[in-house]
Amino acid sequence: MRYDAIILGAGISGLTAAHRLSRRNRRILLLESNDRVGGAIETMESDGFLIERGPNSLRGTHEFLDLVDELGIDDELIAADPRAPAYIYHRNALHAVPMGPAALIGTELLSLRGKMRLLAEPFISRAEGLGEESIASFIRRRLGDEVLERIVAPFVSGVYAGDAEQLSVQAAMARLAGFETDSGSIMLGALRGLLRRKPESEAARPARSLRRYRLCSFRTGLHRLPQALSASLGNAVMTGARVESVAQLSIPEGEPVFEIEAVRGRDRQVLTTGTLIVATPAYTASELTLKLSPGLSALLAEISYNSLVTAPLAWRATQIGRPLDGFGFLAPRNEGLRTLGSIWNSTLFPDRSRQGWALLTNFIGGSTDPGAVNLEDGELRRIASDDLKRVLGIEGEPLALPLTRYWRAIPQYTIGHAERIEKIRKAVEKVNGLVLIGNYMDGVSLGDCIKHARDAADHCIDPNRSTIGAKRETAREITEQTK
Ligand SMILES: Cc1cc2nc3c(=O)[nH]c(=O)nc-3n(C[C@H](O)[C@H](O)[C@H](O)COP(=O)(O)OP(=O)(O)OC[C@H]3O[C@@H](n4cnc5c(N)ncnc54)[C@H](O)[C@@H]3O)c2cc1C
Repeated sequence: MRYDAIILGAGISGLTAAHRLSRRNRRILLLESNDRVGGAIETMESDGFLIERGPNSLRGTHEFLDLVDELGIDDELIAADPRAPAYIYHRNALHAVPMGPAALIGTELLSLRGKMRLLAEPFISRAEGLGEESIASFIRRRLGDEVLERIVAPFVSGVYAGDAEQLSVQAAMARLAGFETDSGSIMLGALRGLLRRKPESEAARPARSLRRYRLCSFRTGLHRLPQALSASLGNAVMTGARVESVAQLSIPEGEPVFEIEAVRGRDRQVLTTGTLIVATPAYTASELTLKLSPGLSALLAEISYNSLVTAPLAWRATQIGRPLDGFGFLAPRNEGLRTLGSIWNSTLFPDRSRQGWALLTNFIGGSTDPGAVNLEDGELRRIASDDLKRVLGIEGEPLALPLTRYWRAIPQYTIGHAERIEKIRKAVEKVNGLVLIGNYMDGVSLGDCIKHARDAADHCIDPNRSTIGAKRETAREITEQTK
C-alpha cells in the first residue's frame, strides 16, 4: 500500500504530526522501534507510587490544550497550583525563584551588589557582531555573575540538564537574546512585551486562560497523552518496527517516492510514501537520511546529547523536616550538592504516592557531571538521599524506587546550534517530500515539540501555510550576522 505520509518515531512529536494528518484524512503510517509509544514520556507504577521516568509535567499551551480537547481527555487533565513556587538552594536555605522585577529586588538570592548590577542592565550597551554567544557570556555581560550563577545557570540545568557556558543564548533562549537585539536591553524588552500584550479579553484567542495550566499532567500520569494519541490512530501505529534505512527513488519531475525498510520481529518490509516525516532523535535521523542527503546527515550528527539519571525516592511525610510547599528546587553547581534538582511530585499532583508518604524525583548528571550515569544504583541513590537530607532536614532512609539512566537524554543547543538548524532546514528543503521534526529543532519542552509537529503537519497539508516561527527568524538573523 502507498501511504500519503509515513512518520518515523512515536514520541510526542511523531504522534502529534500523525494525529494532525490523520484528522485531515491522510492515509498515514507511524513506525516506532520500541514496543510502546511515547518516547521520552514514560509513566510507571512501583510500590504504590506513580513514577514519571522522563518528563514530569508540562506547561499548558494552546496547542497542547487543543490536542487534549480533540482527544476527549480534558476531564483527565490535572493542573498543579500555579502559585506553587520553585526554589533555588543557596547558602543552606531554599529561596523562591523570583518571578518578577519586584521579587528580584526583594530576593535573598542576590547580594546588594548583585542587585545594583542587575539594575544597571538597561544602561549597558548592546553588543554588536558577536554572532552566537553562550548563555553564560550573555547573562554575565548583561546581568552580572550572581544572576548567572544563582538563577540562570540552575534554570539551564532544570530545562536542558545543560551547561550555561556551552549553550547558545540565541538557540536556547531566543526571546531573551531578542530583547537585546530589538530593545537594547533585557529589562526594557521584557517591559515593552508586557505593555504590548493585549488583555486576554481583547486577544485573538480569549476563550482560555493559560494561567491555571502552568504545570499540567493527567490523573494516571503523562503517558496518558501518547496513549490517547495512539488509540486515536488505531492500526496506523506500528510498534516494534525499527526503521533501518530510507532511500528516495529518482523520478525526474514526478512526485517524490521514499522507500522505507523496517524490521519487525523476523519480518522485513519495504514501505513507500510521498511524504516522509522523521521524528526520531537527531542521531537516528542522521543515520536515516544518509542516502537522501549526506550533507544533512552530517549536520544532524553534530547535535550532541547529554546523559542524565532520574532517581525517585520516597519518605514518610513525618520524616521530612520542612513542608514540601512548592514545585521542587534547583541547585546551583557551587552549593556543594551533586543533585541538579528535585521535583516534589506528591505535592504537585494528587495520588502520586502511598498515603502519608512523599515522592520526590531527583536529577543527577547532565552536561556538568557526565560521569554520573556510570555510577552504581546504590551510589546514585545515596547521592540523591544525602543531598535531600541536607536540603530538607530529612531523618532516616528513603524507600528506593526504580532509577532511569539516559545515555542520550536531551539535545544540547550548543553555540552554533541556531546556525546549524538553519542549514538543516535548507538541506531538508532540497529533498522533496522530507520533513524533520523533534526536540532538537525548535525547543525541547513538550509544548514546543507539540507546536512544531503540528505546524509541520499543517505545512504538509497546505504547503502555502508558513511554519516560520519567531525562533526560525532569529536563527536567520544570526546566520546573516555571522556571515
Ligand atoms: C529525563 C527527562 C526529563 C524531561 N522533563 C521534561 C519536563 O518535565 N517537561 C517538558 O516539557 N519536557 C521535558 N523533557 C523533554 C521532553 O520530554 C522531550 O524533549 C520530548 O519528549 C521529545 O519528544 P520527541 O518526540 O521529539 O522525541 P522522543 O521522545 O525521543 O521520541 C523519538 C521516538 O523515535 C523512536 N525511534 C528512534 N529510532 C527509531 C527507528 N530507527 N525507527 C523507528 N522509531 C525510532 C524512539 O523509540 C522514540 O519513541 C524531559 C526529557 C527527559 C529525557
